[in-house]
Amino acid sequence: MQENTAILHSIPVDPLTGAISTPIYQTSTFVQQAPGVHLGFDYARSNNPTRAVLEQLIAKLEKGSRGYAFASGLAAIDAVIKLLEQGDEIIAVDDIYGGAFRLLTHVYQKFGITVKYVDTTHAPNILEAITPKTKLLWIETPTNPTLKISDLQAIAHIAQQHNLLLCVDNTFASPAAQQPITLGADLVIHSATKYLGGHSDLIAGLVVTKTPELGEKIKFIQNASGAILGPFDAWLVIRGIETLGLRVKQHSQNAQAIAEFLLTQPSVKNVYYPGLPSHHNHHIAAQQQRHFGGIIAFDLHSDSKEDAAYIASNTQLFKLAESLGGVKSLVCQPCEMTHKSIPREKRYASGVTDSLIRLSVGLEDAEDLINDLKHVFSTLKSDRK
Ligand SMILES: *Cc1c(COP(=O)(O)O)cnc(C)c1O
Repeated sequence: MQENTAILHSIPVDPLTGAISTPIYQTSTFVQQAPGVHLGFDYARSNNPTRAVLEQLIAKLEKGSRGYAFASGLAAIDAVIKLLEQGDEIIAVDDIYGGAFRLLTHVYQKFGITVKYVDTTHAPNILEAITPKTKLLWIETPTNPTLKISDLQAIAHIAQQHNLLLCVDNTFASPAAQQPITLGADLVIHSATKYLGGHSDLIAGLVVTKTPELGEKIKFIQNASGAILGPFDAWLVIRGIETLGLRVKQHSQNAQAIAEFLLTQPSVKNVYYPGLPSHHNHHIAAQQQRHFGGIIAFDLHSDSKEDAAYIASNTQLFKLAESLGGVKSLVCQPCEMTHKSIPREKRYASGVTDSLIRLSVGLEDAEDLINDLKHVFSTLKSDRK
């Protein structure tokens, strides 16, 4: 069976009623036949039938053994960090998602968990950072916003040799494009807020584990800390996943066309898109990803913050907003929005210049999106001189 068929048909028909859409079990508790005798559900923090469908579905999608649904992507990240103990060290990708950086720095550091940030686009860099205290490797590929690509198989090899857990934040690729567990990862996390939900209408997070043993540990933390996903949002994510394959294919096709268009624009300096042969580590992305995804970043020769703000504010179809992965296209200027809290020098070192613009390419017709960008470039002041 092919991937899309398998996904659609691993969402079970409701065994009680035959409902083809998963019922939303909006309940806090479940009546028991005798004390401790029940149908597998006792209290909805521990388990909920709607959430259980999503959890089994994401495990299947990521080729893992167990899946768990959380109230947000950050709650999912938090659950994985809680596998660690005081004194443990993490080695993380230097372009880590800002919210993960904040959690590690301002919450976990005071509990004695420390992080080293490494440029993981060159896997051997990780080797130099490993100490006897290192327990976890934390990778994103592609990263936000300059889409840096790391070689997951090479990194998984390092993790295995040094007995480290490898966790991949697979939010940007989604399992329709990349399945890190098949490349050797132990854990995968998602902000399901993005491509899995896919419609910019919810906040959710997921954890998938390679082994049932690791799954039991996450399950314990999920129930103990309690940051679970509610049944309605679980239902929305299931509904989103039903069209994931189709969406990611089209997001990627649109993004490829737009990235190639951006390359032809005289005011554009760098175009960051893993589907361009010029993109650093493009060959690795081509090996480990089935699609290159819907996110593009680019900056301007003028490196003018004002020019970038003009572009970001004057597109008609690309709406100015944070977040990504929805059916409608979004544009943002990271230096003023998602990456505002990062010092300018540090931002520039990772390519987040004042004129950098990030696009989340949606499912509109590519021609219309290109015309939207064409129009805004043609009215850019520095171009008209
Ligand atoms: C958005 C995002 C998160 C955080 O997810 P929330 O659902 O907003 O909590 C984590 N990682 C990446 C890569 C993201 O884009």
